[in-house]
Amino acid sequence: MAYSIAIDGPAGAGKSTIAKAVSQRLKFVYIDTGAMYRTIGLFAVRRGIAPDDEAAVVSVLDEADVTIGYLDGKQQVYLNGENVSDLIRTPAAGDAASKVSAIPAVRVKMVELQQKLAEKENVVMDGRDIGTVVLPNATLKIFLTASAETRAMRRYLELCAKGQEVTFEEILADQLERDERDMNRAASPLKQADDAILLDSSEMGIDEVCDAIVSMFEDVIR
Ligand code: C5P
Repeated sequence: MAYSIAIDGPAGAGKSTIAKAVSQRLKFVYIDTGAMYRTIGLFAVRRGIAPDDEAAVVSVLDEADVTIGYLDGKQQVYLNGENVSDLIRTPAAGDAASKVSAIPAVRVKMVELQQKLAEKENVVMDGRDIGTVVLPNATLKIFLTASAETRAMRRYLELCAKGQEVTFEEILADQLERDERDMNRAASPLKQADDAILLDSSEMGIDEVCDAIVSMFEDVIR
């Protein structure tokens, strides 16, 4: 049986940075599930469909083929064969993702893909419902969080470094709106699994969080 580490938490908690670092340390495959919802969001927007128009999104969902690949060890996401990995990294794509991800049919399709990816390989998977829905039997479940300001500042610096023109206030407001939607939707809302370990990374560095998770994992499998 393959090992799996589930990392859930709100936007900007550092899930992808930590999940990537942990996967490198353990030589596991890193799976970023947010990228898949972002891709469906992009697909809807390109089709001229409002991402929260459930009927319209569902009617074209079969035409969106989302696949995952790896280039130099980095996850790439493809929409009908096109590599959209960079296109989905904007606040607008995050907003569209948060809207389409509330649609149950979208979740069913993405969860199926995620579970298949975790079947044969050891994985570190990050998202919102990994410990609760996607991998309920994960070897280790982490709920990673940080204060809203810390999370918004991290995301702000990350986007600035990529040359995107954003303000801190815009990012904070966008994030609070997205968290609110993610926590209150009916389908698989963001919540800590009963058996997940809560880690607040506000005052912790990347290496510190990563060390903590690796040592928890080693304790579990010992
Ligand atoms: O993690 P990331 O910011 O890329 O996720 C984008 C959006 O996709 C989230 O705000 C959330 O609404 C949705 N998502 C989800 N379930 C996951 C991963 C992401 O609903 N497992």
